[in-house]
Amino acid sequence: MTEKERIFLASPHMSDEGYEMEYIKEAFETNWIAPLGANVTNFEKEICQKIGCKAAVALSSGTAAMHLALKLLNVKEGDLIFCQDLTFSATANPIMYERAKPVFIDSDRETWNMSPEALTRAFEKYEAIGQKPKAVVIVHLYGLAADMDEITRICKKYDTPIIEDAAESLGTIYKDKMTGTFGDYSILSFNGNKIITSSGGGMLLCNTAKAGDDAKKTLFWATQARDQARYYQHSELGYNYRMSNIVAGIGRGQLKVLDERVKKKRQIYSVYQEAFADVPDITMMPIHDGIEKSNCWLSCMVLADDSKVTPLDVQLALEADNIEARHIWKPMHMQPFFAECDYIDNGDIGQWLFEQGVCLPSDTKMTERDMSRIIKIIKDLWK
Ligand SMILES: *Cc1c(COP(=O)(O)O)cnc(C)c1O
Repeated sequence: MTEKERIFLASPHMSDEGYEMEYIKEAFETNWIAPLGANVTNFEKEICQKIGCKAAVALSSGTAAMHLALKLLNVKEGDLIFCQDLTFSATANPIMYERAKPVFIDSDRETWNMSPEALTRAFEKYEAIGQKPKAVVIVHLYGLAADMDEITRICKKYDTPIIEDAAESLGTIYKDKMTGTFGDYSILSFNGNKIITSSGGGMLLCNTAKAGDDAKKTLFWATQARDQARYYQHSELGYNYRMSNIVAGIGRGQLKVLDERVKKKRQIYSVYQEAFADVPDITMMPIHDGIEKSNCWLSCMVLADDSKVTPLDVQLALEADNIEARHIWKPMHMQPFFAECDYIDNGDIGQWLFEQGVCLPSDTKMTERDMSRIIKIIKDLWK
């Protein structure tokens, strides 16, 4: 028996026009095969234009960008960081690189992202013992926008900067502004499964009043912290975090098709939403039209608590047909590595989403037939 063609959750999708290869070719022809060059500089410029941020630094990963964002806020050993609980570990790991203390904040049922109510309780709890976080790290999971109006209001009240993890939400618009412009610092990822990819890479976006200086400092750290001298001199700890000029070429080509990819991802979401409208146990992830225009990076669904079909049943049925699906992220407070950290709950929404949720195949190369194949397998589980 021949195996059915694999359908991926989300896989790299290069432009039909071959933009990526043109930029790579240019890098070869000019011999800028290095972690600097025209593609790197132009990729930063083009992202700034697209998103509307003040300055950007192209780095080797989104994780590296998160690390340097924390360093820009002078995060040191023992400092508190309020961090969204429901996310990928890459959001939280850099907090540990600096030996700071994450406090995980539960999600909101309405947005799946940080609950403003739980965030307020976290501020109050630590204020009572004379402590304040150095930063609040929010995430726009699966391309759904966090409640930025409320979160910004609360962070202003407590005079605490925001780091925005927009790794999954490039192209998502919240009230007329792109995600990536709400944090003092924001991060993007161009990993292989993201809405656009450079094969691997990330970017730190600066939206502060001193954005230019912040970008300069980031670049300094990312390129081994070399002092201005005629020899190799170092007054600070450096990192090798810069993006390669080849990688940046792929990123530039991909940026040209970002709008197309968002359009397709949104269409995928609509098809699922329509198809599952008559399955009472299935609720698609909440998108608030009029407030946000989500990039729908992954289309996710939650199953009713009393559904006889479980998320695992869905995954196994799809896997048997060579189709990839996944659990929703497992919250950080449930991770063995972060077991000692404080957690501010909001009715354990994150845990509920982890237990009842499924990320459906959201690959932009899927055809109508592929989607019918997926939908039929899922609906048959209820027969
Ligand atoms: C992918 C991702 C990251 C990390 O990006 P990398 O480029 O893989 O290091 C960070 N946060 C979230 C929410 C992500 O999905």
